[in-house]
Amino acid sequence: MSESLPPLREVVAKYELNAKKSLGQNFLFDLNLTGRIARAAGPLDEATVIEIGPGPGGLTRALLAHGAKRVIAVERDDRCLAALEEVSAAFPDRLELVPGDALALDYPAFLAERGVSGPVRICANLPYNIGTPLLVGWLTQQVWPPFYDRMVLMFQREVAERIVAGPERRADYGRLGVLANWRCETRILFDVPPAAFTPPPKVTSSVVELRPREKPLDCDAAALERVTAAAFGQRRKMLRQALKGLGVDPLALLEAAGIEPTRRAEEVPVEGFVALARALPPP
Ligand code: SAM
Repeated sequence: MSESLPPLREVVAKYELNAKKSLGQNFLFDLNLTGRIARAAGPLDEATVIEIGPGPGGLTRALLAHGAKRVIAVERDDRCLAALEEVSAAFPDRLELVPGDALALDYPAFLAERGVSGPVRICANLPYNIGTPLLVGWLTQQVWPPFYDRMVLMFQREVAERIVAGPERRADYGRLGVLANWRCETRILFDVPPAAFTPPPKVTSSVVELRPREKPLDCDAAALERVTAAAFGQRRKMLRQALKGLGVDPLALLEAAGIEPTRRAEEVPVEGFVALARALPPP
């Protein structure tokens, strides 16, 4: 049972898991906090949870203790595997450890190979250095609705603010906010201070929830990427100027999308970028 597992600090000492900066290792030992993150991903009794970077296993234990039917944990640091085997033994047949790079996985194929059925959640205290590329990969899945029905993820606060930002948060609004809110309903659930981690990072972190939109905003991902890159690439300029680089008449494009040419990128909601992407002729 989970009660028989040793405290996480002992696990880290026993397996000599001194944190590696290159792997974005900032561990969580506070059971209240890991429990709070796991609850945010719940209910879990029918769910398969993909956890990226279980490390010594604090959040992994919480997910299992909160009833996750199955946890598939992808960890790049082989030093952590022996510690995680102990967690696996405490929760028989519910934890699968996958050594390797989370950025290199084809998630739908990976789940199909394992015969996973039922809801899939992604829940992780992400390594800060690959958090954004991982998220962008999950948001730009070819097949939509995607393989997950919710993501509960820890990011640096500044990244979290960019993920949830719309035009009402102009300073933070950009390509990441357009992409995330095109695909999902997003919100920051709570902040986590540096002192909650070992070792403490320099900045505050936040747990973000992303739920796939029930009614998808339909447009081509590559076209959306092109219009947001052009628009936010010159975010201080009016769109009639900023969109010139797209190789089409910007005024005709803006008219087709129903957007005033004097608007700036940071004033246009996600729906406006979707309309621009739909109006953009293929390259
Ligand atoms: N989940 C643990 C916790 O909350 O205490 C550790 C979180 S720590 C911020 C990030 C974890 O991601 C580390 O265990 C690190 O080894 C792992 N990691 C880093 N890069 C990775 C990658 N490319 N693929 C899989 N895991 C990775």
